[in-house]
Parts: sequence; structure tokens; C-alpha cells
Amino acid sequence: MKRAIAAAAILLVLIAELYSARLTVAQQRQDDAMKLISRVLAHLEDVWHSIFIEMGQRYEEPKLVLFTSVTNTACGTGLSQTGPFYCTVDRRVYLDTDFFRVLTESYGVPGTIATVYVIAHEVGHHVQNILGTERQVAQLESRLRALGDQTGANQLSVRMELQADCFAGIFLNRVDRVGRLNAIDIVAALNASAQVGDDVALQRAGQAVRPESFRHGSAEQRARWVRRGLEMGEISACDAFDVDNP
Ligand SMILES: [Zn+2]
Repeated sequence: MKRAIAAAAILLVLIAELYSARLTVAQQRQDDAMKLISRVLAHLEDVWHSIFIEMGQRYEEPKLVLFTSVTNTACGTGLSQTGPFYCTVDRRVYLDTDFFRVLTESYGVPGTIATVYVIAHEVGHHVQNILGTERQVAQLESRLRALGDQTGANQLSVRMELQADCFAGIFLNRVDRVGRLNAIDIVAALNASAQVGDDVALQRAGQAVRPESFRHGSAEQRARWVRRGLEMGEISACDAFDVDNP
């Protein structure tokens, strides 16, 4: 009996140690992710401040909110299932801390550059907000939806997303100028943008791929617009609303 109690006690200690080791690994991962996110944000702020100065305008930084599972935002309830998002009303970028792990584990995208791309894309929406593009497009989009033109409204939404991708590309261009990117990083960033394409997401979910229902753009479009920003490095390159076939 005594031996059984001793064995049970040892087992309990082992389980407790294993559990705390797991917690430590999870905590470490979280800490690393936070450090990476704040480094990326700091670079993004530098880059967009200097681009706005070049345009003779002032850049206002977005606020970043990290959350797990659910959060309140000025745009309604934010859920981790939705993935990272930008709320135009409170001008905040919402990041679910678990998203980057999911991106790496399920999508097979290397963590670092995927994180950079995702944050840069969301900040791209913030830039659209400051420039007034977001307001104009949102008005037009809701008018089209009210008229029952869902396809037209979806196409506007796609152009909006592709421009944000192109803005993310501009950021990569500026990082590349100071020699912080190598060819592998660039391929990985383009791959990360393709992995969040609507066609890839729908195929992964086992659903029918109908281009007219796309709200973000196909894998090919998303990677192409990131590349466009990356190669040209200027806001004028991101004219997703002016081209016939974005
Ligand atoms: Zn977006």
C-alpha cells in the first residue's frame, strides 16, 4: 500500500513537472511572439512615418491590441476565428496571439515572415483609413450591397485587400533597402500572402471555390500585389482601384 502511494506521488510530481515545462514552453513562445510583434510594429512606424513625410502628410500610428479568443472592439466583437483584423472606428489592429502559431502549424508558413506580412497588411488597412480610401470604398460597397450587387461589392472588397497587400509589400521594400531581407524571406512572404488567398482558404475548408464570392482575392492576386509593392516601393504602385483586372 505504502509503495502504491509512493508510486502515485512520484507520478503526480512527474505530471506536475511535465505540465509546468509545457507552460514554460508556451509562455516562452508567447514572449517571443510579443517581442517579434513589437519589433515589427516599431519598423512599420518608422517606414510609414517617412513615407507620409515624403508625401507632405502626417502619419498617425495605429494602436495594437493583443487578445486571446474574444475581445470587444468599436467594430463589434472580435473573435480569434476571424484572424487578425483592423477596426477603422477605433483605429486599432487586433491580433489574436494564437494566430501566428496556427499560421505556422496548419499553413506551414515560417513564423517570422508570416507575422511580418500579417501585421504589415493590417497596418496597410490603417494607411487606407488615414488616406480616406477606406471611407469612400465602404460607402460605395454598402450602396452596391443595398442595390443587391453582391458581386460588385465583393470586387471592391477584393481591391481593398489587394491594396493593403501592396502596402505590406511597400514595407518589405523599405526593409529590403537596408538589407534586412534575403531571397528566402521574400519567397516566404509571398507564400504567406498566397496561403491566405480565398481560393486556398475555401479549398482547405472543403468548400466550392467561386471567384465572385471572394472578398480578399485569390492566392495569385495576393502574392502578385505584395510583389508589386515590394518591387516598386511607392504608394502610387498600389493602384488596385484603377486597374481593370486587379
Ligand atoms: Zn485585410
